[in-house]
Amino acid sequence: MTRSVHVDIAIVGSGFAGALCALALRQRGRRVALVERGRHPRFAIGESTTPLTNLLLEELADRYGLPQVRAFSKWGTWQRTRPDVACGLKRGFTFLFHRHGDPFIDGDAHARQLLVAASPNDEVADTHWYRPEFDLALVEQAQAAGAIYLDETRLEKVRDTGSGMTLEGTRDGRAIEVTAGFLIDASGPRGFLATALGTGGAPLRWLPHTQGLYSHFENVDLWENVAPADGTPPYPPDAAALHHVFPGGWIWVLRFNNGITSAGAALTDQLAATLHASEGAPAWDRLLQSLPSVQEQFRSARATLPFVHAPRVAFRCREVAGERWALLPSAAGVIDPLLSTGFPLTLLGIARLLDLLDTTAPGAQRQAALAAYAHTTQVELDVTEQLVGALYACMADPVLFKRLSLLYFAAASYSETVRRLGRPHLAPGFLLNAHRHFGPEVRGCAALGAEAPVGAARTALCDRIDRAIEPFDTAGLLDRTRRDWYPVVASDLVASASKLEASPDEVRRLLERCGFVNQAS
Ligand SMILES: Cc1cc2nc3c(=O)[nH]c(=O)nc-3n(C[C@H](O)[C@H](O)[C@H](O)COP(=O)(O)OP(=O)(O)OC[C@H]3O[C@@H](n4cnc5c(N)ncnc54)[C@H](O)[C@@H]3O)c2cc1C
Repeated sequence: MTRSVHVDIAIVGSGFAGALCALALRQRGRRVALVERGRHPRFAIGESTTPLTNLLLEELADRYGLPQVRAFSKWGTWQRTRPDVACGLKRGFTFLFHRHGDPFIDGDAHARQLLVAASPNDEVADTHWYRPEFDLALVEQAQAAGAIYLDETRLEKVRDTGSGMTLEGTRDGRAIEVTAGFLIDASGPRGFLATALGTGGAPLRWLPHTQGLYSHFENVDLWENVAPADGTPPYPPDAAALHHVFPGGWIWVLRFNNGITSAGAALTDQLAATLHASEGAPAWDRLLQSLPSVQEQFRSARATLPFVHAPRVAFRCREVAGERWALLPSAAGVIDPLLSTGFPLTLLGIARLLDLLDTTAPGAQRQAALAAYAHTTQVELDVTEQLVGALYACMADPVLFKRLSLLYFAAASYSETVRRLGRPHLAPGFLLNAHRHFGPEVRGCAALGAEAPVGAARTALCDRIDRAIEPFDTAGLLDRTRRDWYPVVASDLVASASKLEASPDEVRRLLERCGFVNQAS
């Protein structure tokens, strides 16, 4: 006999995003079913957070009364409340630029590196989520809050009944039918609805096609041991999302506090073909052979899981929402993770969608809100794809790559600060894409960057980026004396108070509230 489940909202996919939606909706008293094809704990890729990610997590937790989720937004509170859930300490973004065949050598000017701190100390630092345990913890919280959790469910069909959505499938060898007024697709890239509704993918417009090759490892050496920093870097370079960038791709290295390190590469099709990326471990070895210093970092490393070869990393969907359904941004598109943009995009989408479900009843108003949600989701994926696409074009040119990446760092740090000051309207859209000055500039600079300009055009682009950033730079990003090592300095923010439309005192109080207390002066 068919098992029937009737809820207000069904969520397909119980990754962190689906589980968060379930938790928030339960806090609003909605009946929720969380439908998962696999079971937890399970491996998931996508681990590194940013200050904006954690601020969005905090905002969501505060809005929906979820202190247990808020604890995950900072290294310090995480370690005190949930030491049983592994994570990594992320103090910043470390970029190291390599040439195939050459050992990594850099000088005083840091021509081949960029270190951007994300936090002033460990207590308030970001984290890398060890997804097997982090996602499980959120799903357990959703279940404890009363969400109906249906794992190991094979969904075969979805139907719009005119008043709701019905999912049909099997679980435990028995037919199951889940009926809901609204359906959220949190099933990740190339997920459930895109397949079941046949809405299909959309072509990439700015990013080159890339392939992924990744695993989890033990015994990955510290980069600091391979290439000790000269001087005192703004944070320990390994307590970071460490990026090894080289022509045709990049490698991420994310260390967790349980001895595991996540590492993998995103490679253009051309480089992936040369390496025979689909072969997995041998291809990884071949890649490391071409990057002697990275090979040194991995000389004692051992993969703890079979390598995953993803023939396509990035993915875009044509349709994001219908009358009674919506895809989360992470199901609507995946952009190359070079700037750790997946989580903030997803959390922005979750906040918008939950708000929409909170404030509109089925009908014309909800339809308009869903159309706006779909549009914003696509626009934010577009600007991210365009900027990351430009970075790919400049992987052999560290100067231009670094300068272009400052567009991201300026926008992200400005957005975070004005949100914390209660002025989110100053930073409209992800990467300020809806800002009347910055939005066109980020797209314009990315378009020029995509051509990998040289000579005068390259100089002109660098100057244009500086001009675009200046009104939003609250982190000393244009201070060349920092030689591409950017610490978090309280006085930078205080000095930038007018850019934030705040008084210096207001900024000082913010710094105290946010745990910069000893540095605010
Ligand atoms: C190589 C790579 C690296 C990345 N690194 C980062 C990073 O460092 N930082 C960052 O911010 N973002 C990163 N991202 C993006 C990030 O992975 C995603 O934003 C994030 O995982 C989305 O989480 P989610 O919960 O929406 O989906 P997922 O984590 O993909 O979870 C989806 C869940 O849905 C289930 N599911 C799928 N299909 C069905 C179905 N038909 N029926 C039922 N259940 C189903 C799956 O089993 C899974 O449990 C990366 C992406 C890639 C590809």
